[in-house]
This record gives sequence, C-alpha cells and structure tokens, in this order.
Amino acid sequence: MKKNPKEAKNRLTTSHGAPVPDDLDSLSAGPGGPLLLGDVHLLEKLAHFDRERIPERVVHAKGAGAWGWFEVTHDVSRYTRAAFLSEVGKKTEVFARFSTVGGEKGSADSERDPRGFAVKFYTEEGNYDFVGNNTPVFFIRDPLKFPDFIHTQKRNPATNLKDPDMFWDFLSLTPESIHQVLILFSDRGTPRGYRNMNGYSGHAFMWYNDKGERFWVKIHFKTDQGIANLTREEAERLAGEDPDHATRDLYESIAAGRHPSWTAYIQVLTPKEAEALPFDPFDLTKVWPHAVAPLRPFGRLVLDRNPSNYFAEVEQSAFSPGNLVPGMAPSPDKMLQGRLFSYPDTHRHRLGPNYHLIPVNAPRAARERNYQRDGAIRVDENGGGGPNYWPNSMGGPAPDEGVAPPGIPVSGLAARHRPKGGEEDFLQARALYEKVMSDTDRAHLEGNLAAHLSGAKKEIRERQLALLEKVDPGLAKNVAGLMG
Ligand code: NDP
Repeated sequence: MKKNPKEAKNRLTTSHGAPVPDDLDSLSAGPGGPLLLGDVHLLEKLAHFDRERIPERVVHAKGAGAWGWFEVTHDVSRYTRAAFLSEVGKKTEVFARFSTVGGEKGSADSERDPRGFAVKFYTEEGNYDFVGNNTPVFFIRDPLKFPDFIHTQKRNPATNLKDPDMFWDFLSLTPESIHQVLILFSDRGTPRGYRNMNGYSGHAFMWYNDKGERFWVKIHFKTDQGIANLTREEAERLAGEDPDHATRDLYESIAAGRHPSWTAYIQVLTPKEAEALPFDPFDLTKVWPHAVAPLRPFGRLVLDRNPSNYFAEVEQSAFSPGNLVPGMAPSPDKMLQGRLFSYPDTHRHRLGPNYHLIPVNAPRAARERNYQRDGAIRVDENGGGGPNYWPNSMGGPAPDEGVAPPGIPVSGLAARHRPKGGEEDFLQARALYEKVMSDTDRAHLEGNLAAHLSGAKKEIRERQLALLEKVDPGLAKNVAGLMG
C-alpha cells in the first residue's frame, strides 16, 4: 500500500487514527465559550478518561510485577510429564505478581497481611499459573467461609474503618485459623519487600508422570535474597514515609540489574504416604512436616525485566490455580476447589469474558484453539471462518485423549462434613511457637499480637487469648501481660 504523504511521523491522532489539530484549546463559540459538541477529540478524551478505572480486585488489589524465567535444575520427570519440567536446563518465560491481600489499591505495602506470590509460566503446553502466598497455610479450610473472612479483614460497613472487633471476632470463633494467625503476627506478616519472602503453593496438587503414576505435590519457592522482615515499628513508619516501599524495592532492584531469584522445591507424597498422615493432607491450615516430606530442589526462578506499562501488564494480569498443564491436576483440597471457580470468575467480572486475550494473559509459547466465540472485546480473529462447534468434519481442533490425568478414587456420603478440629488444629502452631521460633521471634509475635488484639473488646480478646492458651500457656500469658 502507498504511504499517505500527509501522514506525519509521531502525529497525535484520535483513537480512530484521525489527526488532531490542537490538544490544548477546546473548540468554543467565541473565546469565552460555551464549548461545541463538534469537538469530538475533547468528547473522546473525557469519555475515555471517565472509564480508566476497572474494578479493583476484591482481594490482592495492591501489587507489583515483573517478567523473568524459570529453569529446571533437577530432574522431576518421574513425578510429572509436564513438558516445561522435562529436562534439566530447560527454561520457560514467566510473569510474576506479588501483592498484599486485604488493602485497597492505594494501601501501604507494609501492612500486616499475607502476601500473594503468583507466577505465570508460558509453557509450550499452555499457561501454568502458580498462585501461592508467602505463608504455607491459610486461615480457613472451606471456601464457604472465605467471603466472611475477607469481610472481617476489610472495613466496618457503618464506619468504613478497619475494625479490630470484626477482625478478632471471626478469628476467635474460627480455631483452625490459629496456625496462620501466628505466622501473620510474626514478623513474616510484614516482609521487608517482595524479594525477601518465600512463596508456597499451600495446596497439594496432583502430579502424574507419563506412566500415569500419580503423586501429591506441594511447591515452595525459597528466596535466594534471604528472608528479611520489618518490625512492627518499621512497618508503621514505612506506611507513612513510603507506602509503596515493596513496589519500589522490586522495580528499582531489577532496574539496577539486581535480579531477584528463588530456588524451587517440591514436597512429594505418594497416595499411600498421604493416607498414612495423622491429619488430612489436603487441609490448608496444615503444612506437611519436612521430616515427612523433605524439600527436593527442582528449579530456579529469576525476575530480570520490569513491566513497561503497569496497567497493561500488572493490573491486567490474571492468574488462576486452575491453569494447569498436562502432568498437573487439582487435589481434593476444598479451598483449592473453591478457588478453581472464584479466580476465573473474578477475572471475567474485572476484565471481561475475553480476559485471556490480553497479552499478559495469553499463551506465549502455545496457541489457544477452541470453539469459544464472541463476547465483549473479542480482539483476535475470533476463529475466523472456521467451524464454531465440535464435533465437526472440517478438521477443526480435536481433543487429545492422551493428556487426560489419571483418575482419583473418591467415595463417601454427599453431605456437609465438618472436620474434627480440636487439639489437632493447635499442634503445628505449637511446633512453630515452641520449636521453630527464636526468642526474638516470640517476643515480636507477642508484641504484634498485643498491639492489634488490644483494639478489640474484652469478650473477643478473652476468646482469642483462650485460643493462644491452647497453643502455649506462656504465649497467652505474655500477650495478656502486654495488653495490661
Ligand atoms: P522444620 O523445623 O523442618 O521446619 C520449620 C520451617 O519453618 C523452616 O524450615 C522454615 O521454613 C520455617 N520457619 C523458620 N522460622 C520461621 C518463623 N519465624 N516463622 C514461620 N516459619 C518459620 O519443621 P516442620 O516441617 O515440622 O514444621 C514445623 C513448623 O514450621 C510448622 O508447624 C509450621 O508452622 C512451620 N513451617 C513449616 C513449613 C513446612 O512446609 N514444613 C514451611 C514453613 C513453616 P521456610 O524456609 O519454608 O520458611
């Protein structure tokens, strides 16, 4: 096509490509106005600006992200047939997003909160999303409780203020939360930055090899920068002085060529070993002790490229624990099962039904081929003139039975089963407090708990202290003492 001689390089245009004569003075009837509707550039500019905000994520709203790669360092092909893990030395492009959970998009990075740790692997068999946290466990083990739990961490419906009564009322009535409460109120609840924390899958997933043998696997990304946390006082100061400190730390470190990295490990249990555990292996309030399932290294994650546009790449990135590739499948973990629905559902609400076409979310080493069509913002060729149904006799994309995961035997009564809870829910919290934490860790935990819990009313404080007492009487005594 002949180039338009009038098309000047770098000329400002409307969003439809027409040249704009003036971007400083609106079209007006006389120098004092009023303005004229004929100024379509002004109308378009205002209308687009009015729509710049998309719905904020209901959780994990404040985040930072970066591009990088994952390299296999140890052979795990006996556990999974995933092509991107098939040989030592194999590299896969990734995009990672880190976040706080409860705060709004403008909230401080240093708030006490779990941190999201999400990584999208652009594999040749489609995108695999690791959607973890910086804590290996969670507050609850049934997704039916999730909206309630999050409401209590957000704002009071009347005052629009964060509310220690709501926060502790729910947690003190939810004993299975105690393990995560201890981790959250240790200094790990205020990491020094996203580079200085680990990422845990929390859930077990099913991995299976090319012989159809299956394993339960948990993934850990351990920071090569070393764990580093803020004290309560440092976190409070930073919330005022530099509320974006973790976002800044990630961006500036990558820009300066200091590329953060993590060593990836798996914990593996055979189905038989999992059955022998003295607790439910799929209960998200529990870890698998290292003595039972040792960490086995398998890879390295490196982030080496900052996003060039925050909204396009970080804000629009969308992860789902259901984005798995052949060789990986969900486990029966009830929280995971709930997330399989909730994550894509929130993306459809936030970004639209075709969110998977947004470049950061689209496969980069594979191609999407299916019979889904149309919908808002369908910006690819939409299947062109090819068939839009299956089965068809036109050579359209066909399912591949060879990628089906092995079945998981399931039996039991369809009913609302309540886990047994009780003493079992306190054992791992007790091990953490009594055996893993140093004296300094314990002192900071107690101070952090006392500072927050003291904001709740007496009956709630007492109920939470009773849970701390079940972990360790000294813990409850010290926290009560600090609260006076
Ligand atoms: P181990 O002694 O083998 O492991 C303890 C692990 O706890 C460490 O490897 C470290 O894992 C983590 N850790 C160390 N200091 C702290 C801290 N101050 N706060 C939180 N975590 C810390 O024992 P077990 O595997 O039997 O686990 C004992 C307890 O340790 C668990 O009940 C749990 O509370 C905690 N834990 C266990 C993890 C696991 O997957 N087994 C993972 C994290 C914590 P890391 O380097 O991954 O942080």
